[in-house]
Amino acid sequence: MYGELNTTTAKNSTITAEKTTDLPDPKKPARPRKKLPVINKDFQLEKYNWHRLRRILHLVCFLVFVSLPFFNVMRFDIPRQRFYFAGFELWINEFAIIFFSMMFLLFVLTAVSMLYGRVYCGYLCPQMIFSEASINLEEKIKTFINKHFIKKSLAVRNWMNRIAVYAVLGIASVFLAFVFISYFVERRDLFQSRISFDIVTAGGIAGAVVTLITFADFAFLRQRFCTTVCPYGYLQGILGDDNTLVVQYRDPEQICVECKKCVRVCHMGIDIRNSPYQIECIHCGECVDACRLIMGKFGKDTLVHYAWGEKGELLGDKKAKWYQRIGLRDAKRVAVFAIIFVYATALMTAFSMRHSVLVYIAPNRATLYRIGDDNRIYNTFRMTLANRGNQDATVRLTVNKLPDVKISLPSNEISLKAGETIQQEFEISVPANSLTQEINHFEIVGDVLPEGTKDTFDDTFIMPLEKEKK
Ligand code: SF4
Ligand code: SF4
Repeated sequence: MYGELNTTTAKNSTITAEKTTDLPDPKKPARPRKKLPVINKDFQLEKYNWHRLRRILHLVCFLVFVSLPFFNVMRFDIPRQRFYFAGFELWINEFAIIFFSMMFLLFVLTAVSMLYGRVYCGYLCPQMIFSEASINLEEKIKTFINKHFIKKSLAVRNWMNRIAVYAVLGIASVFLAFVFISYFVERRDLFQSRISFDIVTAGGIAGAVVTLITFADFAFLRQRFCTTVCPYGYLQGILGDDNTLVVQYRDPEQICVECKKCVRVCHMGIDIRNSPYQIECIHCGECVDACRLIMGKFGKDTLVHYAWGEKGELLGDKKAKWYQRIGLRDAKRVAVFAIIFVYATALMTAFSMRHSVLVYIAPNRATLYRIGDDNRIYNTFRMTLANRGNQDATVRLTVNKLPDVKISLPSNEISLKAGETIQQEFEISVPANSLTQEINHFEIVGDVLPEGTKDTFDDTFIMPLEKEKK
């Protein structure tokens, strides 16, 4: 569906887009066009346009990106082996729930791509947000220097511009690398290693490398990352279909005035009029605004639109049914929505059933039993207690269905501090003649206070054979 990578435009992305695309392609026939009279030369875009929406969303995404690790909304603390998700603190031994949470996020991202094309790339992706921000910053610094140092030679102004841009991007890279690594390392530990200029430990080296990569990315690579490295862009060809939202040029009246504003505003350096399926196109809608601004002066609507596939209706078409307007355009999409709903429900149920204090008790069968001097029979068990919550807890052990039973612990109420793990062996004993069977079923109950949860373990108590007792 998507065309081959346009390497010329990818290499010359962003700043040189105007130069490369303004050159006429001798192989292409000239587009036929009509002459249009200017009707409203003061035409302005409506207040709420795609460009403005992107700017607002970019700001929101930046704030979310910076906040997520600091409020433990989503973070993978590698040294402590903890995964924080939606306010829950998951331990690495809860791998299944971590795995299914990650799969859910991946599934939602894939479903969004199928329904709405590359809206993630154009509106939400941090790489795109910071690439555009660095280009805007560069342009602002250039304008400032040209305005205030006009008497300096062009070469001097270029050097001043370069030094200023690199200095600001250097500071920004340190900050962004700090935020990025905060997703994997506790921020206080990270801050300590930053202020001590640690480039010796694994954390320090990782920090320095990420800072350098961030700087190189936003100073030199920018949107070229999307067309050369990012696998998500390449996946679009597989994920999209005939009903996926695309940005498309439609000119049935052949009234394009060849102003090329749609090309000049494109950060990816492409001409949307060639195809809606160019791999560089991130569906940002900047060309939609650009064309609307131009064609508005001629009293016409934009020739570049968001549309549901190449032949589908335009986005926001009033004649479409409400479910079609939100992208539910075939059975496949309804199924995807239903799966997301069921998956999310199952995940929330799993989270709600999760106990913050883990209690696990199992028999240790290295020895089946021990006959004590006190004429009691002992079986050994191993318990694992882990407090994954934020408050201290107490686990009370009770043994049911065994006569005159004793637990060989100082107390059957075990205190557990927040974050603490206890792994311990203990014995359960009964009088030697109290049971007649060799294998006796019983249960151990772990009551957790103050959480109020209860874990019950069905186990077996082994007694010696009659002849062994004698
Ligand atoms: S062609 Fe239009 S929608 Fe695609 S990347 Fe360029 S400006 Fe954005
Ligand atoms: S902005 Fe619109 S009118 Fe101008 S070249 Fe692009 S499609 Fe044609």
